[in-house]
Amino acid sequence: MATTSLPRAASRGGSFLVESCTPEDVFSPAELTDDQKLIGRTAEEFIRNEVVPQIPDLEVHKEGLLPQLLKKAGEIGLLGGGVPEEYGGAALDKVSSVQLAEKLSANASFGVSHGAHSGIGTLPIVFFGNEEQKKKYLPLLATGEKLAAYCLSEPQAGSDAQASRTRAVLSPDGKSWILNGQKMWITNGGFADVYVVFAKVDGEKFSCFIVERGFPGFSSGAEEKKMGLKGSSTTALFFENCRVPKENLLHEIGRGHIVAFNILNAGRFSLGAYCMGGSKGTLETASKYAKERFAFGKPIGSFGLIREKLAEMAIRTFAVESMIYRSAGLMDRAIAAAGDGADKSQPSMKAFEEYAIESSISKVKGSELLDYVVDEAVQIFGGYGFHEDYPVARAYRDSRVNRIFEGTNEINRMLIVQMLMKRAMSGALPLMQAGAKLRDEILAGPSFEESPSGAWADEERVLTGVKKAFLLVAGAALEKYRDHLADQQEIVGMLSDIVMEIYAIESSLRRVQKAEAARGAEKSSGLSLTMADAARVFLHDATDRVEIGARNALASVLEGDMLRTQLAVLRRFLKREPADTVAMRQRVAAAVQAGDRYPFEGR
Ligand SMILES: Cc1cc2nc3c(=O)[nH]c(=O)nc-3n(C[C@H](O)[C@H](O)[C@H](O)COP(=O)(O)OP(=O)(O)OC[C@H]3O[C@@H](n4cnc5c(N)ncnc54)[C@H](O)[C@@H]3O)c2cc1C
Repeated sequence: MATTSLPRAASRGGSFLVESCTPEDVFSPAELTDDQKLIGRTAEEFIRNEVVPQIPDLEVHKEGLLPQLLKKAGEIGLLGGGVPEEYGGAALDKVSSVQLAEKLSANASFGVSHGAHSGIGTLPIVFFGNEEQKKKYLPLLATGEKLAAYCLSEPQAGSDAQASRTRAVLSPDGKSWILNGQKMWITNGGFADVYVVFAKVDGEKFSCFIVERGFPGFSSGAEEKKMGLKGSSTTALFFENCRVPKENLLHEIGRGHIVAFNILNAGRFSLGAYCMGGSKGTLETASKYAKERFAFGKPIGSFGLIREKLAEMAIRTFAVESMIYRSAGLMDRAIAAAGDGADKSQPSMKAFEEYAIESSISKVKGSELLDYVVDEAVQIFGGYGFHEDYPVARAYRDSRVNRIFEGTNEINRMLIVQMLMKRAMSGALPLMQAGAKLRDEILAGPSFEESPSGAWADEERVLTGVKKAFLLVAGAALEKYRDHLADQQEIVGMLSDIVMEIYAIESSLRRVQKAEAARGAEKSSGLSLTMADAARVFLHDATDRVEIGARNALASVLEGDMLRTQLAVLRRFLKREPADTVAMRQRVAAAVQAGDRYPFEGR
């Protein structure tokens, strides 16, 4: 297991809303160890040498090519990151897994196939398998001798996965489960050997089974004709009296939802990392093109509106990268705190559960980042961006599904608030106490308490302000809707957006403060100054987004004098100095263009 330089304390999942943290608490990509960088480089070289030359053949599903590439990746240890060492895996820490995912994303079709095998396909057995199941399957999955798929969705059951119609009944001789039904949209469906399949025992008890290709009654359908990810395999699966040995029940009858949800936590976290890697690659491609393409006698990259795009692509990537590595650091810290046992699989699953809110944030913000970046890249390429001979057209098509699978972004937005409320009600997260304290503070009127000082004083005030804004809006919404808040999806969506902006603001700010402290504030390098610009622009715009969301939510929940009073309080919380974001973006763009790549650590 690679060693990680860990943040000082692992705070509870979601606690960023009510606690403040220091720069030392936040893991930053600048702290990647040599081992972790090596994992990233190995993945990068594999994609460059083995996958990229094969893209044209991958895109037309050349028979056997994708499984062959996955197996090759397995031979050099790129598939067993989630598998404990005793079963032949590499048992990678979460920071290393993020490195791996970001580098493998340079080809999205390969990246998603890798994630379906190593993540959601293999982890159910790692987390929930019994000893026999682990011994039988994990060594083969870790090396790629067998390839896996995760099979939850059905034609009539996507977001509402528990509406599954696939049934399992015990055979009359009691030796097998007999499965009947259909799965839909299964990544790696066309070639996997091992399928983790969800079905209801006796049509009622949602459960999970390990099904092998070759079991009688199992078949996979034709490749779906997709908008993107054309190089990946996506098929339906059919179970017609499919006979599955009794011992292939995974976990317990009626506890399939526990398997499904825990695995999705892991899948969501990684998906954000794949998207972040894709964004960096696309930025690089766009920056190079902007240098080569001339219009009006100049490279298009010299035009302000193109530079602004490059800068914004880098700034948003910086924010997502800061969040994802922070979360990975928190998970590694929690796993390390669980003790020295060789098998980290249970602590690992618990860490994904603890940071499920942060994992949903990774998924939503990562997928929306990549969609933004590929869209702007197409714009920078102009007409050529719309042509299949140029790489950004494929990136654009490939990106779109990320907002749909691993729980749509709508479902994840609702989950973020649901999980927060559940933790608040159980006392695991002191949200109610923080809300009560804020109410007292508002009643007491403006105070002259000591305000932050130093280079980041305004940003520190804003950070405190956005957290208060969340408590203000959430408090008003809860007071009005109480147990029925979940039915008010538009308000929940706004709250969720505010939560995500807060995590992004704090992660970006703490990261840049940590970088400055490491280098010494006075002799800050050009790079850390540019990073400071990126953080400042992000904070500025994110605070605007928080303000708009909070205003809209309050206006929906309150009325009359109460609304006016709360809006005035909100304005006070979010008061900030104007910032010259044009000049700051120009400096970030210059840093991107200097190397034609994402300019901050962890690129
Ligand atoms: C390329 C690809 C690969 C995939 N790979 C896999 C895989 O390997 N394994 C697997 O099991 N599945 C896989 N899926 C399926 C994927 O997880 C589902 O498509 C996804 O969960 C959404 O389900 P759905 O398509 O049925 O959409 P629906 O659930 O019908 O949703 C349609 C729309 O309604 C919204 N919606 C639904 N419910 C609510 C609600 N309660 N409130 C508000 N809005 C709501 C959704 O957000 C969405 O916008 C894959 C899908 C694709 C396209």
